[in-house]
Amino acid sequence: MSSQIILPRILQVGEHASLAVADILASMGCSRALIVTDNMMVKLGYVANITKVLEQQHITFDVFSDTVPEPTVASIQAGVEMARAGDYDGMIALGGGSSIDSAKAIAMLAQYGGDMKDYRFPRIVNEPGVPLIAIPTTAGTGSEATRVTIITDETNDEKMLCIGTGFMPVAALVDYTLTISVPARTTADTGIDALTHAIEAYVSKKANVYSDTQAIAAMKLIAPNLRKVYQNGEDQQARELMMLGSTLAGVAFSNASVALVHGMSRPIGAFFHVPHGLSNAMLLPDVTEYSIPAAPGRYADCARAMGIAAPQDSDQQANKKLLTELKALNEELSVPTPEQFGIDKKEFFSVCPTMAEQALASGSPGNNPRVPSAEELVSMYQALWD
Ligand code: NAD
Repeated sequence: MSSQIILPRILQVGEHASLAVADILASMGCSRALIVTDNMMVKLGYVANITKVLEQQHITFDVFSDTVPEPTVASIQAGVEMARAGDYDGMIALGGGSSIDSAKAIAMLAQYGGDMKDYRFPRIVNEPGVPLIAIPTTAGTGSEATRVTIITDETNDEKMLCIGTGFMPVAALVDYTLTISVPARTTADTGIDALTHAIEAYVSKKANVYSDTQAIAAMKLIAPNLRKVYQNGEDQQARELMMLGSTLAGVAFSNASVALVHGMSRPIGAFFHVPHGLSNAMLLPDVTEYSIPAAPGRYADCARAMGIAAPQDSDQQANKKLLTELKALNEELSVPTPEQFGIDKKEFFSVCPTMAEQALASGSPGNNPRVPSAEELVSMYQALWD
Protein backbone atom coordinates (compact mmCIF):
# COMPACT_ATOMS: atom_id res chain seq x y z
CA MET A 1 0.00 0.00 0.00
CA SER A 2 1.23 3.51 -0.71
CA SER A 3 0.38 6.89 0.84
CA GLN A 4 -0.12 10.12 -1.04
CA ILE A 5 1.82 12.94 0.65
CA ILE A 6 0.69 16.52 0.08
CA LEU A 7 3.09 19.35 0.92
CA PRO A 8 3.63 23.03 0.10
CA ARG A 9 5.71 23.42 -3.07
CA ILE A 10 8.21 25.65 -1.25
CA LEU A 11 9.31 25.53 2.40
CA GLN A 12 11.54 28.45 3.37
CA VAL A 13 12.80 27.81 6.91
CA GLY A 14 14.85 29.91 9.32
CA GLU A 15 15.68 33.43 10.44
CA HIS A 16 13.90 36.06 8.27
CA ALA A 17 12.44 33.41 5.94
CA SER A 18 9.34 35.63 5.74
CA LEU A 19 11.25 38.25 3.75
CA ALA A 20 11.59 35.79 0.85
CA VAL A 21 7.91 36.35 0.13
CA ALA A 22 8.44 38.91 -2.63
CA ASP A 23 10.99 36.81 -4.54
CA ILE A 24 8.73 33.78 -4.28
CA LEU A 25 5.67 35.69 -5.52
CA ALA A 26 7.71 37.10 -8.39
CA SER A 27 9.00 33.62 -9.30
CA MET A 28 5.38 32.47 -9.49
CA GLY A 29 4.56 35.31 -11.85
CA CYS A 30 2.33 37.05 -9.31
CA SER A 31 2.20 40.83 -9.43
CA ARG A 32 -0.86 41.78 -7.36
CA ALA A 33 -1.21 40.35 -3.86
CA LEU A 34 -3.76 40.46 -1.07
CA ILE A 35 -2.28 40.26 2.43
CA VAL A 36 -4.65 38.58 4.91
CA THR A 37 -3.69 39.25 8.51
CA ASP A 38 -4.87 40.69 11.83
CA ASN A 39 -4.43 44.02 13.59
CA MET A 40 -1.76 42.66 15.92
CA MET A 41 0.50 41.99 12.91
CA VAL A 42 0.00 45.57 11.77
CA LYS A 43 0.78 46.88 15.26
CA LEU A 44 3.93 44.75 15.60
CA GLY A 45 5.25 46.11 12.28
CA TYR A 46 5.24 42.66 10.67
CA VAL A 47 2.92 43.79 7.87
CA ALA A 48 5.18 46.77 7.12
CA ASN A 49 8.20 44.44 6.85
CA ILE A 50 6.36 42.42 4.22
CA THR A 51 5.00 45.38 2.27
CA LYS A 52 8.51 46.88 2.13
CA VAL A 53 9.93 43.85 0.29
CA LEU A 54 6.87 43.71 -1.98
CA GLU A 55 7.44 47.34 -2.98
CA GLN A 56 11.09 46.57 -3.76
CA GLN A 57 9.87 43.87 -6.19
CA HIS A 58 7.18 46.19 -7.63
CA ILE A 59 4.41 43.89 -6.48
CA THR A 60 1.23 45.84 -5.74
CA PHE A 61 -0.83 44.82 -2.72
CA ASP A 62 -3.84 45.46 -0.53
CA VAL A 63 -4.20 44.50 3.12
CA PHE A 64 -7.18 42.84 4.80
CA SER A 65 -6.26 43.06 8.48
CA ASP A 66 -9.59 42.19 10.11
CA THR A 67 -9.18 38.45 10.68
CA VAL A 68 -10.16 37.34 14.19
CA PRO A 69 -9.04 34.49 16.47
CA GLU A 70 -11.01 31.30 15.75
CA PRO A 71 -12.50 32.74 12.50
CA THR A 72 -16.21 32.59 11.70
CA VAL A 73 -18.11 32.74 8.42
CA ALA A 74 -19.07 36.37 9.14
CA SER A 75 -15.51 37.38 10.08
CA ILE A 76 -14.12 36.47 6.65
CA GLN A 77 -16.98 37.95 4.60
CA ALA A 78 -15.39 41.37 4.05
CA GLY A 79 -12.14 39.63 3.04
CA VAL A 80 -14.00 37.49 0.48
CA GLU A 81 -15.61 40.62 -1.01
CA MET A 82 -12.25 42.38 -1.15
CA ALA A 83 -10.62 39.36 -2.83
CA ARG A 84 -13.44 39.09 -5.40
CA ALA A 85 -13.23 42.77 -6.28
CA GLY A 86 -9.44 42.95 -6.44
CA ASP A 87 -8.37 40.53 -9.16
CA TYR A 88 -5.38 39.31 -7.12
CA ASP A 89 -3.05 36.67 -8.54
CA GLY A 90 -1.52 35.79 -5.17
CA MET A 91 -2.39 35.89 -1.50
CA ILE A 92 -0.20 36.18 1.60
CA ALA A 93 -1.44 34.91 4.95
CA LEU A 94 0.47 36.47 7.84
CA GLY A 95 -0.39 35.53 11.42
CA GLY A 96 -1.39 32.62 13.61
CA GLY A 97 -3.58 29.75 12.50
CA SER A 98 -6.61 32.03 12.56
CA SER A 99 -5.22 34.38 9.91
CA ILE A 100 -3.91 31.50 7.79
CA ASP A 101 -7.21 29.61 7.97
CA SER A 102 -9.10 32.81 7.13
CA ALA A 103 -6.88 33.34 4.09
CA LYS A 104 -7.36 29.75 2.91
CA ALA A 105 -11.13 30.15 3.10
CA ILE A 106 -11.05 33.57 1.42
CA ALA A 107 -8.83 32.21 -1.40
CA MET A 108 -11.34 29.42 -2.05
CA LEU A 109 -14.57 31.45 -1.76
CA ALA A 110 -13.12 34.26 -3.90
CA GLN A 111 -12.42 31.80 -6.69
CA TYR A 112 -15.47 29.52 -6.60
CA GLY A 113 -18.18 31.30 -4.56
CA GLY A 114 -20.80 29.50 -2.49
CA ASP A 115 -20.98 29.25 1.30
CA MET A 116 -18.23 27.94 3.55
CA LYS A 117 -20.47 25.10 4.69
CA ASP A 118 -20.51 23.81 1.08
CA TYR A 119 -16.80 23.06 1.53
CA ARG A 120 -16.88 21.23 4.85
CA PHE A 121 -15.91 17.60 5.47
CA PRO A 122 -16.79 14.97 4.15
CA ARG A 123 -16.39 16.90 0.88
CA ILE A 124 -12.75 16.79 -0.25
CA VAL A 125 -11.84 20.16 -1.76
CA ASN A 126 -9.14 19.66 -4.37
CA GLU A 127 -9.89 22.70 -6.57
CA PRO A 128 -7.00 25.17 -6.50
CA GLY A 129 -7.90 28.58 -5.01
CA VAL A 130 -5.87 31.78 -5.44
CA PRO A 131 -2.20 30.74 -4.79
CA LEU A 132 -1.43 31.31 -1.12
CA ILE A 133 1.87 31.92 0.67
CA ALA A 134 1.53 31.27 4.41
CA ILE A 135 3.72 32.97 7.01
CA PRO A 136 2.95 31.61 10.49
CA THR A 137 3.59 33.75 13.56
CA THR A 138 2.72 31.10 16.16
CA ALA A 139 4.22 27.65 16.76
CA GLY A 140 1.51 26.50 16.35
CA THR A 141 -1.18 25.08 14.26
CA GLY A 142 1.07 24.03 11.39
CA SER A 143 -1.65 25.44 9.10
CA GLU A 144 1.09 26.74 6.80
CA ALA A 145 1.73 23.11 5.81
CA THR A 146 -1.72 21.51 6.11
CA ARG A 147 -4.54 20.92 3.64
CA VAL A 148 -7.00 22.00 6.27
CA THR A 149 -8.94 25.09 7.24
CA ILE A 150 -11.31 25.48 10.17
CA ILE A 151 -14.07 28.09 10.06
CA THR A 152 -16.86 28.34 12.64
CA ASP A 153 -20.48 28.46 11.52
CA GLU A 154 -21.84 30.94 14.05
CA THR A 155 -25.45 29.96 13.33
CA ASN A 156 -24.98 26.63 15.13
CA ASP A 157 -21.59 27.11 16.85
CA GLU A 158 -19.96 24.42 14.72
CA LYS A 159 -16.26 24.52 13.93
CA MET A 160 -16.37 23.30 10.32
CA LEU A 161 -13.41 21.19 9.30
CA CYS A 162 -12.60 21.69 5.62
CA ILE A 163 -10.04 19.43 3.96
CA GLY A 164 -8.40 19.06 0.57
CA THR A 165 -5.40 19.92 -1.58
CA GLY A 166 -7.13 23.19 -2.44
CA PHE A 167 -6.34 24.44 1.07
CA MET A 168 -2.60 23.66 0.89
CA PRO A 169 -0.48 26.82 0.62
CA VAL A 170 1.92 26.83 -2.33
CA ALA A 171 4.66 28.13 -0.04
CA ALA A 172 5.22 28.18 3.73
CA LEU A 173 7.74 30.69 5.08
CA VAL A 174 8.68 29.41 8.53
CA ASP A 175 10.39 32.32 10.29
CA TYR A 176 10.81 31.76 14.03
CA THR A 177 11.81 35.39 14.65
CA LEU A 178 8.13 36.30 14.24
CA THR A 179 7.23 34.15 17.27
CA ILE A 180 9.47 35.99 19.76
CA SER A 181 6.61 38.44 20.43
CA VAL A 182 4.01 35.76 21.22
CA PRO A 183 2.82 36.21 24.85
CA ALA A 184 3.45 33.36 27.31
CA ARG A 185 -0.18 32.17 27.48
CA THR A 186 -0.50 31.91 23.69
CA THR A 187 3.00 30.35 23.50
CA ALA A 188 1.81 27.59 25.84
CA ASP A 189 -1.54 27.03 24.13
CA THR A 190 -0.11 26.94 20.62
CA GLY A 191 2.83 24.77 21.72
CA ILE A 192 0.52 22.16 23.22
CA ASP A 193 -1.52 22.27 20.02
CA ALA A 194 1.62 21.40 18.05
CA LEU A 195 2.55 18.61 20.45
CA THR A 196 -0.98 17.22 20.20
CA HIS A 197 -0.78 17.25 16.39
CA ALA A 198 2.41 15.18 16.51
CA ILE A 199 1.06 12.65 19.05
CA GLU A 200 -2.32 12.29 17.31
CA ALA A 201 -0.72 11.91 13.87
CA TYR A 202 1.48 9.14 15.28
CA VAL A 203 -1.33 7.18 16.96
CA SER A 204 -3.86 7.85 14.17
CA LYS A 205 -5.33 4.90 12.28
CA LYS A 206 -4.29 6.81 9.15
CA ALA A 207 -0.62 7.03 10.20
CA ASN A 208 1.88 5.93 7.57
CA VAL A 209 5.65 5.61 7.46
CA TYR A 210 6.05 9.14 6.11
CA SER A 211 3.79 10.82 8.68
CA ASP A 212 5.45 8.76 11.44
CA THR A 213 8.89 10.17 10.61
CA GLN A 214 7.56 13.74 10.66
CA ALA A 215 5.59 13.16 13.88
CA ILE A 216 8.56 11.68 15.74
CA ALA A 217 10.86 14.48 14.54
CA ALA A 218 8.26 17.03 15.67
CA MET A 219 7.97 15.49 19.16
CA LYS A 220 11.78 15.52 19.50
CA LEU A 221 11.81 19.23 18.70
CA ILE A 222 8.75 20.32 20.67
CA ALA A 223 8.91 18.35 23.93
CA PRO A 224 12.27 19.67 25.23
CA ASN A 225 11.57 23.25 24.15
CA LEU A 226 7.97 23.97 25.13
CA ARG A 227 8.72 24.81 28.77
CA LYS A 228 11.74 26.88 27.66
CA VAL A 229 9.74 29.18 25.33
CA TYR A 230 7.00 29.53 27.94
CA GLN A 231 9.47 30.55 30.63
CA ASN A 232 11.65 32.72 28.38
CA GLY A 233 10.06 33.93 25.17
CA GLU A 234 13.38 35.48 24.10
CA ASP A 235 15.13 32.10 23.90
CA GLN A 236 15.91 32.22 20.17
CA GLN A 237 17.14 28.66 19.86
CA ALA A 238 14.11 27.20 21.62
CA ARG A 239 11.80 29.40 19.50
CA GLU A 240 13.52 28.15 16.34
CA LEU A 241 13.17 24.50 17.28
CA MET A 242 9.52 24.95 18.36
CA MET A 243 8.68 26.67 15.07
CA LEU A 244 10.18 23.88 12.97
CA GLY A 245 8.56 21.28 15.23
CA SER A 246 5.19 22.92 14.74
CA THR A 247 5.51 22.87 10.93
CA LEU A 248 6.60 19.22 10.94
CA ALA A 249 3.69 18.34 13.25
CA GLY A 250 1.40 20.03 10.71
CA VAL A 251 2.96 17.99 7.90
CA ALA A 252 2.48 14.84 10.00
CA PHE A 253 -1.19 15.28 10.81
CA SER A 254 -2.11 16.71 7.40
CA ASN A 255 -0.77 13.48 5.85
CA ALA A 256 -2.30 11.20 8.50
CA SER A 257 -5.02 12.85 10.59
CA VAL A 258 -5.73 14.20 14.01
CA ALA A 259 -7.85 12.09 16.33
CA LEU A 260 -9.97 12.17 19.46
CA VAL A 261 -8.38 15.18 21.24
CA HIS A 262 -9.05 17.43 18.25
CA GLY A 263 -12.46 15.93 17.63
CA MET A 264 -13.54 16.74 21.20
CA SER A 265 -11.67 20.04 21.34
CA ARG A 266 -13.34 21.84 18.41
CA PRO A 267 -16.86 21.87 19.94
CA ILE A 268 -15.49 23.18 23.27
CA GLY A 269 -13.79 25.97 21.34
CA ALA A 270 -16.89 26.79 19.34
CA PHE A 271 -19.38 26.77 22.24
CA PHE A 272 -17.25 28.37 24.95
CA HIS A 273 -14.70 30.42 22.98
CA VAL A 274 -11.74 28.56 24.41
CA PRO A 275 -8.59 29.08 22.29
CA HIS A 276 -7.94 25.98 20.21
CA GLY A 277 -4.65 24.97 21.84
CA LEU A 278 -6.06 25.45 25.31
CA SER A 279 -9.05 23.17 24.78
CA ASN A 280 -6.63 20.57 23.37
CA ALA A 281 -4.50 20.93 26.51
CA MET A 282 -7.53 20.44 28.77
CA LEU A 283 -8.28 17.15 27.00
CA LEU A 284 -4.84 15.71 26.20
CA PRO A 285 -4.05 13.87 29.48
CA ASP A 286 -7.50 12.24 29.86
CA VAL A 287 -7.88 11.29 26.21
CA THR A 288 -4.36 9.81 26.19
CA GLU A 289 -5.19 7.73 29.28
CA TYR A 290 -8.39 6.50 27.60
CA SER A 291 -6.59 5.64 24.35
CA ILE A 292 -3.36 3.99 25.56
CA PRO A 293 -4.87 0.48 26.02
CA ALA A 294 -5.66 0.35 22.28
CA ALA A 295 -2.14 1.34 21.13
CA PRO A 296 0.34 0.92 24.01
CA GLY A 297 3.37 0.54 21.73
CA ARG A 298 2.60 3.68 19.75
CA TYR A 299 2.10 5.85 22.83
CA ALA A 300 5.29 4.42 24.35
CA ASP A 301 7.16 5.48 21.19
CA CYS A 302 5.83 9.01 21.78
CA ALA A 303 7.15 8.99 25.34
CA ARG A 304 10.56 7.90 24.09
CA ALA A 305 10.63 10.50 21.28
CA MET A 306 9.69 13.20 23.79
CA GLY A 307 12.71 12.17 25.86
CA ILE A 308 10.70 11.33 28.97
CA ALA A 309 11.09 7.54 28.77
CA ALA A 310 14.34 5.64 28.28
CA PRO A 311 14.76 3.30 25.29
CA GLN A 312 14.97 0.33 27.71
CA ASP A 313 11.71 1.21 29.52
CA SER A 314 8.87 -1.23 28.91
CA ASP A 315 5.84 0.13 27.04
CA GLN A 316 3.94 0.09 30.31
CA GLN A 317 6.63 2.11 32.11
CA ALA A 318 6.91 4.53 29.19
CA ASN A 319 3.15 5.11 29.10
CA LYS A 320 3.04 5.77 32.83
CA LYS A 321 5.74 8.39 32.33
CA LEU A 322 3.82 9.87 29.39
CA LEU A 323 0.70 10.43 31.50
CA THR A 324 2.74 11.90 34.35
CA GLU A 325 4.46 14.25 31.90
CA LEU A 326 1.26 15.45 30.21
CA LYS A 327 -0.26 16.27 33.60
CA ALA A 328 2.93 18.01 34.78
CA LEU A 329 3.10 20.00 31.54
CA ASN A 330 -0.44 21.31 32.02
CA GLU A 331 0.41 22.26 35.58
CA GLU A 332 3.63 24.06 34.65
CA LEU A 333 2.02 25.85 31.72
CA SER A 334 -0.87 26.91 33.99
CA VAL A 335 -3.54 25.28 31.82
CA PRO A 336 -6.86 26.09 33.48
CA THR A 337 -9.66 23.59 34.02
CA PRO A 338 -12.93 24.43 32.23
CA GLU A 339 -14.17 25.80 35.56
CA GLN A 340 -11.07 27.98 36.06
CA PHE A 341 -11.48 29.22 32.49
CA GLY A 342 -14.89 30.54 33.55
CA ILE A 343 -17.18 28.06 31.81
CA ASP A 344 -20.57 27.57 33.44
CA LYS A 345 -20.91 23.91 34.46
CA LYS A 346 -24.66 23.69 33.85
CA GLU A 347 -24.32 25.19 30.40
CA PHE A 348 -21.41 22.85 29.63
CA PHE A 349 -23.34 19.77 30.70
CA SER A 350 -26.41 20.85 28.73
CA VAL A 351 -24.46 20.89 25.43
CA CYS A 352 -22.42 17.72 26.03
CA PRO A 353 -24.70 15.59 23.79
CA THR A 354 -24.45 18.17 20.97
CA MET A 355 -20.67 18.43 21.40
CA ALA A 356 -20.43 14.61 21.26
CA GLU A 357 -22.51 14.58 18.08
CA GLN A 358 -20.38 17.31 16.44
CA ALA A 359 -17.17 15.59 17.51
CA LEU A 360 -18.25 12.31 15.89
CA ALA A 361 -19.49 14.09 12.73
CA SER A 362 -16.06 15.72 12.24
CA GLY A 363 -14.61 12.26 11.59
CA SER A 364 -11.58 12.84 13.85
CA PRO A 365 -12.59 10.45 16.69
CA GLY A 366 -12.90 7.66 14.11
CA ASN A 367 -9.14 7.92 13.53
CA ASN A 368 -8.33 7.38 17.20
CA PRO A 369 -6.88 4.01 18.22
CA ARG A 370 -9.87 3.62 20.58
CA VAL A 371 -13.16 4.97 19.23
CA PRO A 372 -15.74 6.06 21.79
CA SER A 373 -19.52 5.86 21.40
CA ALA A 374 -21.60 9.04 21.70
CA GLU A 375 -22.45 8.08 25.30
CA GLU A 376 -18.78 7.56 26.16
CA LEU A 377 -17.96 10.94 24.65
CA VAL A 378 -20.55 12.62 26.86
CA SER A 379 -19.00 10.94 29.92
CA MET A 380 -15.52 12.04 28.82
CA TYR A 381 -16.69 15.66 28.48
CA GLN A 382 -18.32 15.48 31.89
CA ALA A 383 -15.20 13.92 33.43
CA LEU A 384 -13.29 17.14 32.70
CA TRP A 385 -15.08 18.54 35.74
CA ASP A 386 -13.93 15.78 38.11
P1 NAD B 1 -4.45 32.66 16.64
O1 NAD B 1 -4.05 32.77 15.22
O2 NAD B 1 -5.91 32.65 16.96
O3 NAD B 1 -3.74 33.80 17.48
C1 NAD B 1 -4.01 33.96 18.86
C2 NAD B 1 -3.65 35.38 19.27
O4 NAD B 1 -2.25 35.56 19.23
C3 NAD B 1 -4.25 36.44 18.35
O5 NAD B 1 -4.75 37.48 19.13
C4 NAD B 1 -3.06 36.90 17.52
O6 NAD B 1 -3.19 38.26 17.11
C5 NAD B 1 -1.93 36.72 18.48
N1 NAD B 1 -0.64 36.49 17.83
C6 NAD B 1 -0.37 35.65 16.81
N2 NAD B 1 0.93 35.70 16.50
C7 NAD B 1 1.51 36.60 17.32
C8 NAD B 1 2.83 37.10 17.48
N3 NAD B 1 3.82 36.65 16.73
N4 NAD B 1 3.06 38.02 18.44
C9 NAD B 1 2.05 38.47 19.24
N5 NAD B 1 0.78 38.03 19.14
C10 NAD B 1 0.51 37.11 18.19
O7 NAD B 1 -3.80 31.35 17.31
P2 NAD B 1 -3.38 29.96 16.69
O8 NAD B 1 -3.41 28.99 17.80
O9 NAD B 1 -2.15 30.08 15.89
O10 NAD B 1 -4.56 29.60 15.67
C11 NAD B 1 -5.76 29.06 16.13
C12 NAD B 1 -6.67 28.75 14.96
O11 NAD B 1 -6.05 27.80 14.08
C13 NAD B 1 -7.98 28.14 15.40
O12 NAD B 1 -9.05 28.70 14.66
C14 NAD B 1 -7.81 26.66 15.07
O13 NAD B 1 -9.05 26.02 14.83
C15 NAD B 1 -6.97 26.74 13.83
N6 NAD B 1 -6.18 25.53 13.51
C16 NAD B 1 -5.99 25.26 12.19
C17 NAD B 1 -5.28 24.16 11.80
C18 NAD B 1 -5.09 23.88 10.34
O14 NAD B 1 -4.42 22.92 9.97
N7 NAD B 1 -5.65 24.67 9.47
C19 NAD B 1 -4.70 23.32 12.77
C20 NAD B 1 -4.89 23.62 14.10
C21 NAD B 1 -5.62 24.74 14.46
